[in-house]
Amino acid sequence: MNSLALTTGARHPFQQRDMPAGRQSFDGSCHCGAVGFTFRTALAVSEWSVRACQCRFCRSHGALTTSDPAGSLSFRASTPELLNRYRFGMKTADFLLCRRCGVYVGAQIETDRGRFGIINLAALTTVLRQLPAATPADYAAESSSERARRREQRWTPLESDGSQAA
Ligand SMILES: [Zn+2]
Repeated sequence: MNSLALTTGARHPFQQRDMPAGRQSFDGSCHCGAVGFTFRTALAVSEWSVRACQCRFCRSHGALTTSDPAGSLSFRASTPELLNRYRFGMKTADFLLCRRCGVYVGAQIETDRGRFGIINLAALTTVLRQLPAATPADYAAESSSERARRREQRWTPLESDGSQAA
């Protein structure tokens, strides 16, 4: 591929990674629609990192999560009262659930480097058939600072223009 192909909008799968212009949006929400997200990434769906966290919370929800450090993410809530920010363990992240229907949509953290989040793929509004198989992930041995550094590096930056969940 030459550079002309890049500027004329050719979408070769191996070039999307470095092309913000090639970003696609993926919406998700809880079952009743009160709490949701928009995830933007230039990665092809087949390249997403799909993680099956082995903690009790994620296993109990059957959650599969993804993030893209080069993408962006925003959470929203139709009314703030319906957003349940659940904290457990080291209490370093907010796990975002709908108070009305109980669905877990994603999680977010705030550190001195900014705000970052992950989405629960089970809350996507469209079924993505090219999703890779999930990789089990066990973070139980991490210290709280290791956990924060990992999330800063791997999670998706939250958009600054204001989610109501922020
Ligand atoms: Zn709901």
